[in-house]
Amino acid sequence: MSKILVIGEISDGKLNSGTAKVVAAAAQIKGDITVALFGADVSAAAADAAKLDGVTKVLKIESAANANPLAAVYAPQIVELAAGYSHVLFPGTAFGKDTAPRVAARLGVQQVSDIMVAHSPTSFDRPTYAGNAIVTVEAPAAPAIVATVRLASFTAVGSSANAAIESASSSAALPSHTRFVKLEAQKSERPDLQAAARVVSGGRALGSSDAFKIIYSLADKMGAAVGASRAAVDSGYVPNDMQVGQTGKIIAPELYVAAGISGAIQHLAGIKDARTIVAINKDAEAPIFEVADFGLVADLFTAVPELEGKL
Ligand SMILES: Cc1cc2nc3c(=O)[nH]c(=O)nc-3n(C[C@H](O)[C@H](O)[C@H](O)COP(=O)(O)OP(=O)(O)OC[C@H]3O[C@@H](n4cnc5c(N)ncnc54)[C@H](O)[C@@H]3O)c2cc1C
Repeated sequence: MSKILVIGEISDGKLNSGTAKVVAAAAQIKGDITVALFGADVSAAAADAAKLDGVTKVLKIESAANANPLAAVYAPQIVELAAGYSHVLFPGTAFGKDTAPRVAARLGVQQVSDIMVAHSPTSFDRPTYAGNAIVTVEAPAAPAIVATVRLASFTAVGSSANAAIESASSSAALPSHTRFVKLEAQKSERPDLQAAARVVSGGRALGSSDAFKIIYSLADKMGAAVGASRAAVDSGYVPNDMQVGQTGKIIAPELYVAAGISGAIQHLAGIKDARTIVAINKDAEAPIFEVADFGLVADLFTAVPELEGKL
């Protein structure tokens, strides 16, 4: 039977919602599921992880060195912990994408990236060509399979379990070449882009950061997160953590509204799993209309305020 180690992610002391989706992927592989949490004090996150359906054990690896999620510091400890496990799974977030390759390299295995489906303990679907094709890969079982999970492809497991919580320590030698200096993060009252049920995004057509206010205003009316195309980010209208797409965030909201976005494949790669896509574009031939469930051929500077007024 598979023994699966899920590396949980902690944000602001709480268990990141992506962890419940990684557990869903682990449940599809089938096996015994342990969640490992690294930090200085992970009690609150451990209590949440212990409730996740399918989890049999939560391991707390607490130390001052683990206070901040440094991939270089976590990786040797994860490798030590991974002995005896058949799989080590990470969320496909910046944290997972940063840490998993170091673990895979230390174990001497090739990482499986962006698991969308687990057909068996060793066979997985993953996207390729910016999400335009899905490839089924077979990974060698030994010494362990190291993988990231595409969060947009899994529904979070429920939280009615009551798994054991244990403390573990590590004797792995930690590097001193990488140290935490400071964290600069965007603070926003709006929902998190990757977790939001509704997202409104703006593109190059907005023309300035000032004009982007109409996107924020519509999003606030809808209780939505705000996203953007790369063109809008590169033009400096919005910060780059708002970019949706192949080289931005992969999201799966219930509702995605794209205003003044042409629908380049690299943008569409980020919204493939959105339930309902609404496009507002003044060009009836824009490729975004090929994937939109509802399309409005209109000038966004008229349509967006009008839509907000009607809501
Ligand atoms: C390796 C690589 C990775 C990339 N990764 C990403 C990524 O992660 N995310 C991403 O978004 N892009 C990515 N891109 C860039 C991508 O190819 C496009 O260039 C980008 O998505 C275009 O952004 P846009 O749709 O805002 O701009 P444009 O393509 O310029 O489209 C603007 C649209 O606005 C419409 N418009 C103009 N004025 C109005 C108006 N007043 N009202 C309504 N509509 C109007 C136009 O008809 C047009 O369709 C990547 C490219 C490469 C090469």
